[in-house]
Amino acid sequence: MRILVCVKQVPDTTEVRLREDYTLERDFIAQVMNPADESALEWALQTREKLGGETTVLSMGPERAETTLREAIARGADYAALLTDRRFAGADTLITARCLAAAAKRLGGFDMIVCGRRAVDGETGQVGPMLAALLNIPCVPNVTVAQAGEKLIADQLTEAGVNRWASGYPALLTFCEWSYRLRLPTLSGLRRARQAEIMRLTPDELGLSAEECGIKASPTRVVRVEARPVGVRPCKWMDAEGVMTALMERCPEAMP
Ligand code: FAD
Repeated sequence: MRILVCVKQVPDTTEVRLREDYTLERDFIAQVMNPADESALEWALQTREKLGGETTVLSMGPERAETTLREAIARGADYAALLTDRRFAGADTLITARCLAAAAKRLGGFDMIVCGRRAVDGETGQVGPMLAALLNIPCVPNVTVAQAGEKLIADQLTEAGVNRWASGYPALLTFCEWSYRLRLPTLSGLRRARQAEIMRLTPDELGLSAEECGIKASPTRVVRVEARPVGVRPCKWMDAEGVMTALMERCPEAMP
């Protein structure tokens, strides 16, 4: 089984330092593998051990994201690819998914793609489902436990309990944090990680023009970030019909 694991390098927020003007001193923030991606990687490693095949880790980010990919190799991944180029910078979730989808195709296609359910910095949880939609494959988000065999069986955590899904291949799962505890690197893994070749891919190699990636292509801009008032959850529960009605009211031009 060929498994692709999408990993994002994120700031280790317990080590944040502030400048005098209270802006983040980014260069001193340690960068780590996104916690939910650790679950996805461990699931991929266990599944490869059970069924055979290979595991590739893929990240889009600056050069320094290479350290996270080498860490994944030290823990058992077979191959790694990094999408790094200034033209990728500033991608929103849709364009991130587009670039990852192009890379998945360029790397030869996969039986399974696994992601974290959310990244601790952007935390939209959109990239995995968008990637599945762009590749036109089924997706189960928020997975706690999954079994790959003749069929794929995945338990999905919801507000109301657990849904059990069955699917064929290829499929995409997004894993919850700490549902699979990532193994430690081995000595031989660390040696292999030091010497491993990390494949670098640019937009040209993915067949994407400068207009199709990065901030230029992104329909979303983050214009402000603020802390949510403690204890207030500004959510309104509605059924699918309610969602469609609300969307029609707010942006009729975007609706079919
Ligand atoms: P999520 O969708 O939460 O990530 C889920 C999983 O997708 C990850 O666990 C990982 O497996 C995979 N994944 C995500 N990014 C990568 C990557 N670069 N390489 C490999 N795998 C990856 N963008 C928007 O479109 N809308 C917003 O509202 C928005 N708000 C933001 C707010 C903040 C504070 C920040 C810092 C960024 C925001 N962004 C937003 C940008 C967004 O973080 C990036 O577009 C990012 O590339 C992916 O989104 P995410 O971090 O929400 O990932």
